[in-house]
Amino acid sequence: MLVLLTPASIIQAAKLPDLGSSDLIAYNINVEQALGRAFNTALHTQYNLNYDPDVVSYIRKIGHEIVSQIGERRSFKFYVVDDPNINAFAGPNGIIGIHTGLILAAKNEDELAAVIAHEIAHVTQNHLSRGYEKNSKQSNLNTIATLLAAVLIGMYDSSAVYPTLIAGLSLDIEQQLKNSRLHESEADHIGIQLLSQAGYNPHAMGDFFARLAKESQNSASQIPEILRSHPVTERRIAESENRAQLLAVQSSKQPNNYLKLIQLKLKTDKKANEQQRVQNLSKPLACYQKNLHILARQTPFSLAKIECLQTLVKQNPNHPFYTTLLLQILAQHPTIASKATLSALNQSDYLLDLYPNNTAVLLEYTNLLLSLKKDSKVIALLKSYDENQRYTYQVYKKLSEIYASQQQTADAYFFLALAQFNIGNTKKTSYLLKQAKITATPTLKQRIARFEHQNSNLLKTKEISKH
Ligand SMILES: [Zn+2]
Repeated sequence: MLVLLTPASIIQAAKLPDLGSSDLIAYNINVEQALGRAFNTALHTQYNLNYDPDVVSYIRKIGHEIVSQIGERRSFKFYVVDDPNINAFAGPNGIIGIHTGLILAAKNEDELAAVIAHEIAHVTQNHLSRGYEKNSKQSNLNTIATLLAAVLIGMYDSSAVYPTLIAGLSLDIEQQLKNSRLHESEADHIGIQLLSQAGYNPHAMGDFFARLAKESQNSASQIPEILRSHPVTERRIAESENRAQLLAVQSSKQPNNYLKLIQLKLKTDKKANEQQRVQNLSKPLACYQKNLHILARQTPFSLAKIECLQTLVKQNPNHPFYTTLLLQILAQHPTIASKATLSALNQSDYLLDLYPNNTAVLLEYTNLLLSLKKDSKVIALLKSYDENQRYTYQVYKKLSEIYASQQQTADAYFFLALAQFNIGNTKKTSYLLKQAKITATPTLKQRIARFEHQNSNLLKTKEISKH
């Protein structure tokens, strides 16, 4: 992955002052938020994020459960990077990234939660912002955000041919990010507490890091990315173990098979053949895998083949992932499966009442309705999704697509603007709102004006932060 920089931003970036010794600088929320928006935009525009609603909703559920243990209010957003490297990172303003490679490497949900808790602790302790806000004030936020994303995601290649100036700057940033042992130890310490409070096994953190370190020693393969930025020493593992000993191992979590299902979903490559199926699965997992292959069109569809999945949905009405898979398959064959579709629609209504903020249920439900040409119901459903929610990008993008297909240009531009706003892209939001205004009705024009005001305030913050 290349870090793309314009000549102007290179000059701006060159003004970066000393990157060290900034621990004493007061925390500036405006700068961190502006940097967070630029980082979020870079993440969405320059990297392969995984947008599978099941995968992201699963990670967000764990993330926000742990975040709910923190007394103070902080902004957190969780995203999944489609990348086989075992990695996770905490970016500016509470943006946390989990690589699909890490999800696949976790043995159980506690291990996955442990890494997420560790990254959350980096945020609560302001480890990143302590070092960045001074620089952000004086240089181009977009440049810093772009470099930060490259380094955190592990796509920054220090041996690649960069202009000399940028190579020097990036190395400084990379150095800065090699979290000090103090930061790592603090993130372990706070993270284990959060993990335990959220009802997970506090031993999982030490176990996971130790296992990764051992596996990377035994194999000729590369050291996992996460171990480069989070060096694992025997002392660190021992410390984690000691801290975990002091905490009660709670068992408040209901056991679930969510991680196994998500892992199967990530492993089902559309090109994979039958032989690559995971063997020796329990009955529900085997049924789920079989239906993943039907969804990927590796196995021809027939109503008889989805019977086991329909039974799973009936027996586990509160389980989101059985229903979302059924919805996806039915959306591919709406007419053949009309009776099954009717009962799936009822089940979706039930689940949406149960989990109103679950975008996986919402998006797959709307996809099935779209396959039945129920556009107006879809628009009403998507619009009823709370606009103050953290994750509106996919919901508004879908609304925009529907309006575009109906040649309703103003609404299509407007909802695309809202989607871009959610990922911090204030500049593009401003452009899209201008486009929306051209053909907007008077009512929509009023909404656009209010929103333009809100967006331009953020654009101003970005300007101020440069001085
Ligand atoms: Zn760390």
